[in-house]
Amino acid sequence: MSDPVLHLTGITKAYNKGAPNEVTVLRGIDLSVAKGEVVALVAPSGAGKSTLLHIAGLLDTPDAGRVAIGGDDMTGQSDRKRTRVRRADVGFIYQFHHLLPEFTALENIVLPQLAHGVAKSDAEQRATELLTQVGIAERADHRPAALSGGEQQRVAFCRSLANQPRLLLADEPTGNLDPGTSDQVFGALMDLVRSTGLSAVIATHNLELAARMDRQIRLDAGHLVPV
Ligand code: ADP
Repeated sequence: MSDPVLHLTGITKAYNKGAPNEVTVLRGIDLSVAKGEVVALVAPSGAGKSTLLHIAGLLDTPDAGRVAIGGDDMTGQSDRKRTRVRRADVGFIYQFHHLLPEFTALENIVLPQLAHGVAKSDAEQRATELLTQVGIAERADHRPAALSGGEQQRVAFCRSLANQPRLLLADEPTGNLDPGTSDQVFGALMDLVRSTGLSAVIATHNLELAARMDRQIRLDAGHLVPV
C-alpha cells in the first residue's frame, strides 16, 4: 500500500508555554489520511482546528510528534525544505477567500502558478478549466468585489488547487456563507476534490456537510475521537 498522503503521530501543541496563561491545545494527535480520502474535522470554535491544520500544512511546528507528507517526514527539516513541500503539495482554503482585490478571478488563479514556474498560457488554460469545473467560467474577468460570496469562495477553491497539491486543508471553507449557498458551494468543492483524487481534511461544524465526507473525526479536549 502506498504511504498515506498525510500522517500525523503524537502531535502536541501548547501556546504561551511556561506562562500563567499557558494553553495546551493538542494532546497527542494521530491521524492518517489516505490518497483520495476526504476527512471531516468537526470541532467547536476554539478547540484547536486551525492549530492542527496549520501544523499539518507545515505553517506551524508541533511541540512534539511527527508530520509526514506523502511519506516524507518533515521533522527537523529546514525551513526551506518545509516551504518547498508546502508550496508544492499542500493547498489551503480559509473561511474568508483572501483573494487579491486588484486582480481578476482568472488572474488570482494564474498568479500562484506563475510563481511556481508554469508558463502563462498553460496557467491561464488551467485557471479556465478550474473555473469551468466550479461553474463560474463566465466570471473569469471579474474582480473579487464584483463576485458574490459563494463565487469568491469558488475562486479561492480553484486557486488552492491551481498547482495540483496532493493534500487540501480547509478551515470552515463555507462558514461565511448563508446555509443555502454553503450547501451548493460545498458541493462544488467536493466535486472538485473528487475529480482530482486529492486527499483532504476539511474542518466544519456543520454535521450535514461532515456526513458527505468519507470519515468524520472530532477534536475534543486535545484528542481526536470518532464522531
Ligand atoms: P479553532 O480553529 O478550533 O477555533 P484555534 O486552533 O484557533 O481553534 O485555537 C485553539 C486555542 O488556542 C484557543 O484557545 C486559542 O485562543 C488558542 N490560540 C490559538 N493561537 C494562539 C496563539 N498564537 N497564541 C496563544 N493562544 C493561541
